[in-house]
Amino acid sequence: MIDLRSDTVTKLTDRMRQKMYEAEVGDDVYRDDPTMRKLEELAADMLGKEEALFVTSGTQGNQIAVLVHCSLGQEIILEEGSHIFRYEGGATSAFAGIQPFPIKGERGSMNALDIEAAIRGSDIHEAETGLICLENTHNRAGGTVTTPESMKEIYEVAKRHHLPVHLDGARLMNAAVALKRPMTDFTQYVTTVQICLSKGLGAPVGSIIAGSSEFIAKARKWRKRLGGGLRQSGVLAAPGIIALTEMVDRLDEDHQHAKWLAEQIHALPQLRVAFEVETNIVMMDVSETGLTSKQFVELLKENGVLANPFAPTIVRLVTHYDVSRVDIEQTADVLRLLVSEKIGK
Ligand SMILES: *Cc1c(COP(=O)(O)O)cnc(C)c1O
Repeated sequence: MIDLRSDTVTKLTDRMRQKMYEAEVGDDVYRDDPTMRKLEELAADMLGKEEALFVTSGTQGNQIAVLVHCSLGQEIILEEGSHIFRYEGGATSAFAGIQPFPIKGERGSMNALDIEAAIRGSDIHEAETGLICLENTHNRAGGTVTTPESMKEIYEVAKRHHLPVHLDGARLMNAAVALKRPMTDFTQYVTTVQICLSKGLGAPVGSIIAGSSEFIAKARKWRKRLGGGLRQSGVLAAPGIIALTEMVDRLDEDHQHAKWLAEQIHALPQLRVAFEVETNIVMMDVSETGLTSKQFVELLKENGVLANPFAPTIVRLVTHYDVSRVDIEQTADVLRLLVSEKIGK
């Protein structure tokens, strides 16, 4: 099976397994784990923040950020297709007691003026804005990149209104590689950031959140409250170190694969690419085949390709470390076959 459902399916590399085996460990709740400390220092450095903290997942990292930044009854401004709004089980309401204020972006990027217009709280009828959340790359918009320049405009609005900005940077590394710029070019314009180690970077488990020392001290406590204080977690930090030091630059290969696949899709009359590909996500619109995305995904599966039915007529294909050029060529062959034989002209 060629698994294009997500970059979360990547399995850890042999080098990661080796480093897990060799990792020096201690009780990280007592902050005795040297490998975890090393990962957190490295991540803070790469993200240009005072401190960083390992968390069990991207969702946990985002939710800890919301919990630290906001208080009960506040509102967070975010993009209407964002992961925090759509795919975190309503956690912002369930845990932090805040309500989302979604606004529509353009290819996943929100406009600074729209954000400024959405800031509320001066009137007694209104919830008070507590946080602005960005997502880069934007998953639902097809792995699209928001430039540091756009982020800067938003950051300036936030500063004017004394609001923190959190970046859901689950795939920030993809954005950095796509623009050939360091991650700090992006993170200089946010208060806090979350990045995933277990997506395209191939680590088995975990995310990082980063921000000021004061933020991380509060985040550490929320992590403990949520049951995310881990003990000999150096075994998870060791592959995380490999992820950050050896697996970032190669994301370019995934981007090339996605772009090539999009070109093949583009050449087929019944299929369309919903968003121009910028990183490792291809959103394929199957509406002109007369099939739903679920039906199309079933056909793909019968032909050895796994994909995600993302919206009623959109199939998501994600390239990653465990997908080779040959796999991508085979996927294109399968698409051509489906379109010409099974679906008709
Ligand atoms: C994957 C992802 C997350 C976090 O997912 P987890 O499965 O909880 O690690 C957060 N935001 C975005 C944009 C993502 O793609």
